[in-house]
Amino acid sequence: MAKTWNAKSYAAASPTSSLTSTMIPRREPTEHDVHIDVLFCGICHSDLHTVRDEWKSVFPTVYPCVPGHEIIGRVTRVGSAVTKFKPGDLAAVGCLVDSDRTCSECQNGLEQFCPNMTLTYNSPDKHLGGVTHGGYSEGIVVDERFVLRVPPKLDLAGAAPLLCAGITTYSPMRHWGVVKGKKVGVVGLGGLGHMAVKLAHALGAHVVVFTTSPNKKDDALRLGADEVVISRHSDEMKKQTGSFDFILDAVSADHDINAYINLLRRDGTLTLVGAPEKPLEVTAFSLIFGRRSLAGSPIGSIDETQEMLDFCGIHNITADVEVIPVQQVNEAYDRLLKSDVKYRFSIDMASLKSERAA
Ligand SMILES: [Zn+2]
Ligand SMILES: [Zn+2]
Repeated sequence: MAKTWNAKSYAAASPTSSLTSTMIPRREPTEHDVHIDVLFCGICHSDLHTVRDEWKSVFPTVYPCVPGHEIIGRVTRVGSAVTKFKPGDLAAVGCLVDSDRTCSECQNGLEQFCPNMTLTYNSPDKHLGGVTHGGYSEGIVVDERFVLRVPPKLDLAGAAPLLCAGITTYSPMRHWGVVKGKKVGVVGLGGLGHMAVKLAHALGAHVVVFTTSPNKKDDALRLGADEVVISRHSDEMKKQTGSFDFILDAVSADHDINAYINLLRRDGTLTLVGAPEKPLEVTAFSLIFGRRSLAGSPIGSIDETQEMLDFCGIHNITADVEVIPVQQVNEAYDRLLKSDVKYRFSIDMASLKSERAA
């Protein structure tokens, strides 16, 4: 059994419990590991789904559950074989902490599709047994292959959400060729959507935001949108028919997908990154005419996540965050359910260090 130490963390003990201060075991760094003191951790909607066991049919939660996969921290210790990091370096960890490294996906540098990947939390832990624990914690130990470098000038609280919200929107835009001169739609201006707007703008695209809330218009323009369409106004929607190269749909509530597919030009693609609970109804003709595609995309690979962070470093892109102490995490979850945040919560983990563990 690997040697362990106890990390002060915020964990849920059951689907109905609040997150509370809890000690959880972490492994001592092995030769390829990096020990990171967590400085900031973003709150992703997946954290809430997992804590409340809302994905139990596909991905049952093991308790205690320490969520968090938008992690920024500082390296404090490294194993003897580590070459990429030294103590004092900034470091980041996203949704993956390991994969089998031997399957064809891993061989192609696409570990986000590895059938044996290890997610940052609630995934079988190869070292300690049980499941992995995420970033709502004072520290985390991760193999250097899955640790990212952080561009030095970025605001660290705002950089944390890049590790999930950032890469989830950057990866599909890169895959479907969003570059200067392309017209890109972003549906839904939440945690993912606001990152998509910033990234698409920096990639040089003409960006159109679709929202149901007219009061988000000014924000969308400030974030980098060239146009804002209120999706309830059918005349505004009609004007956009057949004009988009790419649309990123970040809405996880029920909505009419055909209205957006019809806005694609020939060979355009609509990619889902939000996951509505109920199956979406798709009219075949909306795809057939125009040879359009409907697609989906998960996070991104480790190499692509590094590329995204470096891109954000060059363009000074971070998420718009509300920084909270970890003691407010339960309240933040309630507000997240009401979309009452602009646009991501980022937990300042110094608040955990100053707390005595229960
Ligand atoms: Zn996430
Ligand atoms: Zn693999």
